[in-house]
Amino acid sequence: MQKPKGTLKICSRGHRFYKSSDCPVCPQCWSGYYRTKNQSDFPPKLAAPALRALANAKLANLRALTKLTEAELAALHGIGPRAMVLLKQALKAKKLQLKK
Ligand SMILES: [Zn+2]
Repeated sequence: MQKPKGTLKICSRGHRFYKSSDCPVCPQCWSGYYRTKNQSDFPPKLAAPALRALANAKLANLRALTKLTEAELAALHGIGPRAMVLLKQALKAKKLQLKK
């Protein structure tokens, strides 16, 4: 099914954003929500899409990441190169590592 191109929407708190799907969720409010809900022991600098990717994959904390290989983690939608660096640093700081 072909989705329509993004249209400008304004959320109840006044954030302007473009959404291509019919999902009405504001990315700014959404990321705030996700950060509060899913921050866990993940790095504070981790971008909201990355945090969302982890939440969607049911990875609740750094320890849960040790069940994944680097390739598996990188393949999650929302995990970019910067998120990978941050996560690996955070794992290392806790003496954890990704699956080999
Ligand atoms: Zn908003």
